[in-house]
Formats: sequence, structure tokens, C-alpha cells
Amino acid sequence: MNKYLFKRPEGLYFEPGDFYLDPKRVVQKAVITHGHADHAIAGNKSVWCTAATKSIMRLRYPRMVSTEFTVPAYGEPFYFNEVKVTLLPAGHILGSAQVIIEYGGVKYCYTGDFKLREDASCERFQVEPCDVLITETTFADPLYAHPPEQDELSKLEAYEKTNIVIGAYNLGKSQRITKLLTDRFPHRRVMVHPEATGFHKIYEQMGIKLGNWQPYSYQLFRRTTGNILIAPPRALSTYYREAGVITAFATGWKKSPFRAHFNFHLSDHADWQEILDLIRDTGARTIVAVHGDGTLLKSHLSKEFPDIEVIN
Ligand SMILES: [Zn+2]
Repeated sequence: MNKYLFKRPEGLYFEPGDFYLDPKRVVQKAVITHGHADHAIAGNKSVWCTAATKSIMRLRYPRMVSTEFTVPAYGEPFYFNEVKVTLLPAGHILGSAQVIIEYGGVKYCYTGDFKLREDASCERFQVEPCDVLITETTFADPLYAHPPEQDELSKLEAYEKTNIVIGAYNLGKSQRITKLLTDRFPHRRVMVHPEATGFHKIYEQMGIKLGNWQPYSYQLFRRTTGNILIAPPRALSTYYREAGVITAFATGWKKSPFRAHFNFHLSDHADWQEILDLIRDTGARTIVAVHGDGTLLKSHLSKEFPDIEVIN
């Protein structure tokens, strides 16, 4: 892929520093961008990540005891041999980081999962000029333009007196929605499923105020109206057929694998325009597409910016 950067079965490998980025198999040295399970596996010998990601991993993997953590602050460099590495905010979930790698006069940026738009539940993305941009391409398709979040919240106004269940993944999405709901609908009761509350507590310990939410109460939810419950997506099927309950699935995808009355369009990944904006703003001349399909991005850039090399 590059003189120094390789896709190995274990994951992305930066040879001069002998470390992996978000490895999928256990390795000696791993730099981990954020706490989602497809990026942060248990069992690596040494891990470099943000303090929030460490707390998330500790909660997710309570039996993980042998891993040695180093938790640099955003912007605080650390070294693997001659390789300088810095973590910067990626705007995806709390503690998510881009990995800036500097070696041999070349600056690399691995975005991990990211979004550019504002999200009050996590640190905002910080653009860093670089030569090689290794970007996620989850929504690298012009069909994807995420709507403003307030427009999606407006969909809930039609159900003021109804109980609503919003299916949202437990880490990141669930906390973001909690914050959005408690800000926009302070008069409604916002309940959170027990699978997510541990992550809520980490967010609040790290200084993110999620507002006036409360743990799910079966009795209260059934006996009163106008409540909003945030639950794991698989719980939607339980509520879908219940009288007096409206269900919504929080997703950035146009098609939903879960049955719900409507989709609540919300994504923690960059859409097509955000990916193009990032490429422009970093000034990178080499783009490496990972975590998704970079085919459309490659054909677009080769027409519009023929001097940019795209490795898919
Ligand atoms: Zn993620």
C-alpha cells in the first residue's frame, strides 16, 4: 500500500515503528482509535489510546488484565523508535482519535471512524494538514448526505403523548441521542436501557453532561405516557407490535436491518461531503481508503483531482 504502511491480516501496520492501528488480531503494540468493538479488541500486549477509550475498554472487557495501557492526551506526542505519533480528536464518539504519524519527512493521518459535524457528546474533529490521509469510507457514496439532527428530532414532536422507543447502539449513539433528547425535550422522561448506562456513566465521569436521563423502569414506562426509551436495536422487535408505542431506529443507513415505524437518521460517520471536505482541508495528495468501499471516491477524485493518488 505504501513503503512503510501495510495491510496485514492483523490490521494496518506501520513498519518503521513496528505497531498496528486498530488491530483485528492480538498484537504486541496497538494504537487504538476508539472503543467500538470492531476497532478495540481485548488482549493486545501494549495499547496506546485516549483515557476515555481505556475506560470504555475496561468496561467492555472486565477480564482484560494483562494489557499495558499508555494514555497520551490529545496533541501529546509519543514515539516508536524514530516515529512520532500524536492523537487528535476524531469527533466520532467520546475519546475517539485520529492517529497522526510523522516519519521520514512524511505526515500520515489515520482517521479511524470520524465525523466533522458538531456533536455535544464528544470532542470535535480537529483538522491536521498531512501528506497521506488514511480515511474510513463507510458512507463514501454521493447518495449519503446526513440531515441536520434537529430535523430528525422534529419527527418526535408528532408523538408528544406517546411512548417512543429509539433503537440505538449502546456506545456513542446512545449517549449522543440522550444528550439531544434531554436538551430538546426537557419536559419528557428519557430512559436508558441497562446495557448502555455504564457507558453513560463513563461519559459523565469524563465531563460530558448528558442531561436529565434515568435508568429504564419497566413499571414507569408501562404506566405513564410521553416517555422516550433508548434501547439496543434488537429490542425494537419487542416493542414494534405493542399498542401505544412508536419505534424508531437511529441509523445513518438508508436501509434498516431492524423493523421500526421510522428511521431516525443519525450517523457518527462522515457522509460523502464530509469526506471530500476533509481531503480538501488536509491537503493530502495520497488517499488510502479503509473501512468501507472506496470505489466511488476513487473514481470521483481521479476525474476531479487527477494529481491525487487514491489507494483503495
Ligand atoms: Zn466506531
